[in-house]
Amino acid sequence: MGYIEPAPITDKENPFESMMERFNIAAEKLGLDLETYEVLKSPAKQVIVSLPIVMDDGHKKVFEGYRVIHSNTLGPSKGGIRYDMDVNLDEVKALAAWMTWKCAVVDIPYGGAKGGIKCDPSKMSSGELERLTRAYTVKMYEIFGPDIDIPAPDMGTGPQEMAWIMDEYSKAQGKTVQAVVTGKPLVLGGSLGRVEATGRGVMVSAMEALRKMKISPNDATVAVQGFGNVGSNAAKLLAQKGLKITAISDHTGAFYNPDGIDLREASEYRETYKTLEGFTGGEKISNEALLELDVDVLVPAAKEDVINTKNADKIKAKLIVEGANGPTGAKADKALHDKGIVVVPDILANAGGVTVSYFEWVQNRLGYKWTRDRVNRRSDRIMKEAFEKVFKIAEKHNVSLRIASYMVAITKVADTYKLRGSF
Ligand code: GLU
Repeated sequence: MGYIEPAPITDKENPFESMMERFNIAAEKLGLDLETYEVLKSPAKQVIVSLPIVMDDGHKKVFEGYRVIHSNTLGPSKGGIRYDMDVNLDEVKALAAWMTWKCAVVDIPYGGAKGGIKCDPSKMSSGELERLTRAYTVKMYEIFGPDIDIPAPDMGTGPQEMAWIMDEYSKAQGKTVQAVVTGKPLVLGGSLGRVEATGRGVMVSAMEALRKMKISPNDATVAVQGFGNVGSNAAKLLAQKGLKITAISDHTGAFYNPDGIDLREASEYRETYKTLEGFTGGEKISNEALLELDVDVLVPAAKEDVINTKNADKIKAKLIVEGANGPTGAKADKALHDKGIVVVPDILANAGGVTVSYFEWVQNRLGYKWTRDRVNRRSDRIMKEAFEKVFKIAEKHNVSLRIASYMVAITKVADTYKLRGSF
């Protein structure tokens, strides 16, 4: 079809190119026409803003903020806001596109977006973070809206930031607009189950995959990279299903215990000291070594590109369930495939978060609160149905679960786009 450009030869993969490599393979398999291909790959809107903030010591510092709307074909665009020093336009573009495919895979009526501010939230006071978040919201006032673009938490942000966004947006509207953002604190219209939702979806995906692979959960060991919201909840829920979590990590290092990590102890430690540094519930190893442990299941739940051409052939896990967005670079896919490692890709495995975000938005618009049980039952069902659909496509076309997920997503967005026309 002539639109596949040769991949650049570099060590570190550019996340947008990593996304495009998979998109290209799936588009080719589907025989997607060139016109639709061009529309689907191009972000609908890219916004970069400068945010001058008065810091606590009185000096002014300028931060750079981003919001990329990749697609609004299926509905208002949806996606988190990341606070991290590595935030840049290419990363936000990739993350926005992944949101489009993620929402389409689980069949919820949203397009994809992502935002971010280049900053280190761990070095900022609560007051500085509040001023930064409010300034960002003011600059994005025309972009955000319950029917236009709905932010949510991502790395470095959580319920408090979402509360500030809702409040600042509501101020300008002259009324409380809960549905402008999801992942809010419960008292402000957040949903029961939202905090654990991504980790829960990772657990459900892992259980479905293990069932297909005929591995008993009670015999399975797991290494989880990242002990933030996604990693810690995935670990806890997988342990509740009988799997043994033998390694966990955060940015300070990893901990390995063949008898199983005491997750309650780890959570309490992290609660007290804010990091896992100094945790004694396991042998200290590096984050790189965690990825290469001889476990059944590996859950990368930290950052992009941690599984790459340098380490892919050293991975020993039978199953990888991607809690993070983009943890495997596109060039590592082949090595994993050749080793027979099953990968439940990010756009499927971590879609539980945005699914419950959708439930939160629905509840806000209904003015009604669902029970935790209803939220969990419905999100589990959506995750299982999506897994099954992707699994069948993978079998039918003899492709990986990743390419099958892209095929499901692209088909949904392309069909909708063709029916709708141009907006
Ligand atoms: N940041 C999460 C993700 O990457 C959640 C997005 C949302 O709930 O809108 O899926």
